[in-house]
Amino acid sequence: MILASCMEYISTRGGDTAPDFKTAVMAGLASDGGLFVPAEYPKFSAKKIAAFKNLSYHELAYEIISPYVGDSIPAADLKKMLAETYSPKIFHHPQIAPLKKLYEGEYILELFHGPTLAFKDFALQFLGRVFDYFLAQSGEKINILGATSGDTGSAAIAGCMGRKNINIFILHPKGRVSEVQRRQMTTVLADNVFNIAIEGNFDDCQNLVKEIFGDPAFKKKYNLSAVNSINWARIVAQIVYYFYAALQLGAPSQKISFSVPTGNFGDILAGYIAHKMGLPVEKLVIATNSNDILHRFLTTGTYKKQPVIHTLSPSMDIQISSNFERLLFDYHKRKGQIIKNKINDLNTEHEFSVETKVLAEIGKLFASDAVNDTSILEVIGAVYAQTGESIDPHTAVGFMAGRNNILQAPMVTLATAHPAKFPEAVKKATGLYPLLPTFLSHLHDSPERFTVLHNQAEKVREFIMANN
Ligand SMILES: *Cc1c(COP(=O)(O)O)cnc(C)c1O
Repeated sequence: MILASCMEYISTRGGDTAPDFKTAVMAGLASDGGLFVPAEYPKFSAKKIAAFKNLSYHELAYEIISPYVGDSIPAADLKKMLAETYSPKIFHHPQIAPLKKLYEGEYILELFHGPTLAFKDFALQFLGRVFDYFLAQSGEKINILGATSGDTGSAAIAGCMGRKNINIFILHPKGRVSEVQRRQMTTVLADNVFNIAIEGNFDDCQNLVKEIFGDPAFKKKYNLSAVNSINWARIVAQIVYYFYAALQLGAPSQKISFSVPTGNFGDILAGYIAHKMGLPVEKLVIATNSNDILHRFLTTGTYKKQPVIHTLSPSMDIQISSNFERLLFDYHKRKGQIIKNKINDLNTEHEFSVETKVLAEIGKLFASDAVNDTSILEVIGAVYAQTGESIDPHTAVGFMAGRNNILQAPMVTLATAHPAKFPEAVKKATGLYPLLPTFLSHLHDSPERFTVLHNQAEKVREFIMANN
């Protein structure tokens, strides 16, 4: 038997492959517009999973992530990188992702102890290091360009700051992100970090980014890159904490359910992959806010775009969920042509549907629920009154949807943001203004640096040129 030490990646639209992890990660998107997935999911036996029980977070991360990385990073380097990433210096808790019991059979997994207080740090702290590692090998430099309405920008900056081979340019709409969110970006004074406040709204920022990425000459000359949620390295980093939580609750002999506050479907996709790798999962609950495209899909089999609604859980205010394509690919026997047609329908008709039997298959593992702002405030208030714990509005969506879908197994809600990141909503629900953790207590009196630019792609291009 030949043991493949190199994991191949294929595109969800059937028109591209990547020979290894490095190629898939550095490309981001596949050349046919699809998303890279591994040609096969590595699978662990129950015995092997049981043996993970006493590993520390970063040791477990190595076991889960290394089969996907293959030969792209030598074992010793990957171990070192993971020990650095998932250390209490970066995730400010000895357990990195502590599991907390709120009620009998109901838990939250706190994923908000990282530098920007949201679960995106788990993926972006890893991705920043992976990019820098591969770039150092090739002697290249990249310019990361992105737009943010708040959360992703700060997590991307925290993951890239100070890295030698990366510059990062993040556009935010001037005066339209919260004080905490802005300061989490603009108080980072590292030389390679450039915050740009655009005179416009979030859509303007996104359109500028699209326009600049659509300029092939500029993109090539400045080696432009993105860190968006479809990058495979971000997904793999998120698989780890499903195993970590489940092992503490008795897996693999005990099944576990997870409820996941969902926007782009990256986080819950990682839970699905954990299940494919052998973790016994009873249900995965797709918890959406009033932007409920996925809940409507699970209920009707039709995936239909609607305008974005602004809610108390802004990091889930999305029109479509880009990573959902990876799930659809698997549930259509990995036939890229089918996915290509569906995406075509989405682009032209603003919707597509799946067959009843496909929907029924998906429904065996997944459940869903949509939670509106009124319920969000009620849940935060009730959990606080009954347990003394403050949860943030995103976590509240997860908790409520989870509670509505409990079967036999313990239900773990992923707590995706720290309550102090969304203090107004939490105060409204509990009467108590949640405080920032001590490592961020300086945030409100630290100096800020950002550049204000007009809503014109040319201005942004000039700024990038001037800073290279
Ligand atoms: C990004 C984000 C989500 C949604 O995660 P997806 O992977 O996009 O589904 C949920 N909660 C918070 C706090 C986030 O920042």
